[in-house]
Amino acid sequence: MQHSCTVCGKAFETSRAHARYCSSTCRGRALRTRKADSASGADVVTLSATASSKRTAVASAPADEESVSLVEVVTQQLRSAGKLATYGGQQALVVAKRLQASGGDTGAAVASLSKELERLMTIIMADVQTEPDAIDEAQAAVLQLRTTRRRRG
Ligand SMILES: [Zn+2]
Repeated sequence: MQHSCTVCGKAFETSRAHARYCSSTCRGRALRTRKADSASGADVVTLSATASSKRTAVASAPADEESVSLVEVVTQQLRSAGKLATYGGQQALVVAKRLQASGGDTGAAVASLSKELERLMTIIMADVQTEPDAIDEAQAAVLQLRTTRRRRG
């Protein structure tokens, strides 16, 4: 299916329903922009029309977006890999939920949970055909969760 990159606007071909970026470069850029946005308020760099409308949405409901993102990302990745209803998939979800619920309060616990999630996702995705993005995106979500909470607390 045909998507357009939310960062550079380039059209790209993907089999993933939730793909948003044409490359890891753009994903990284989007992540940095989001961090910059939440750090310094609303009027920061606009990379594209999509990015700016997204920022409006985030500004109106920041807590919501953060609290659903990690578990949602993991769920989507597992579902698209056909691994949601497997033992490993459910394990990964449990870890993702715990990680999200922990909210980054205790550094060591969160670090070991995110390591565990990474390990599980790596194993689960190992026999899925070439979806390295799946692990990337889950890690990006974890990273974002941790960064956001740390700054807030
Ligand atoms: Zn792009």
